[in-house]
Amino acid sequence: MKRKLTSLLIVAIGIIYVLMLISSRNPLIVDDVYQTNTCDGLLEKADVLYIIPNFENNSINNNEDWCAKIKSLNKTIGLHGIKHSYHEFEKEIHDEELVLAIKEFENCFEEKPTLFRPPYNRINEENEEKILKLNLTLYKKKFIAHPYCHCNPKSFMKPLNWILFC
Ligand SMILES: [Zn+2]
Repeated sequence: MKRKLTSLLIVAIGIIYVLMLISSRNPLIVDDVYQTNTCDGLLEKADVLYIIPNFENNSINNNEDWCAKIKSLNKTIGLHGIKHSYHEFEKEIHDEELVLAIKEFENCFEEKPTLFRPPYNRINEENEEKILKLNLTLYKKKFIAHPYCHCNPKSFMKPLNWILFC
């Protein structure tokens, strides 16, 4: 009897977990999208893709094929930092860097970004003002409130994608 109750409880918790997960990550956001990061299946599934415009000095500007491929997916796309260095938007960001990133995005996708998500979900007040001044909608919900999937995460982040059914 006790065993039956325990398994029933586990199933109930499992169902609640899946329902909470589905509702909390709706629409499905995929982070860390750039040319050499391949996660085709996840890109197809996603609703919103957050793009890093210049990861490791490799601008999306110079990659027409990749830009066309992302565009053909017909997803909502947003800007995810500039180079995505560690806590990038907690440090000083020069206007020119930000304007260049927006231009790179625009050249690649033939549209201006309207959404911005800071890398690591961290942004200081000064940079927040800069983002808003450029008419970008700042998206900085905490992970718990809105879990998101990472495009091809590094080893220690991999279990997260698994837990979230990415
Ligand atoms: Zn990121």
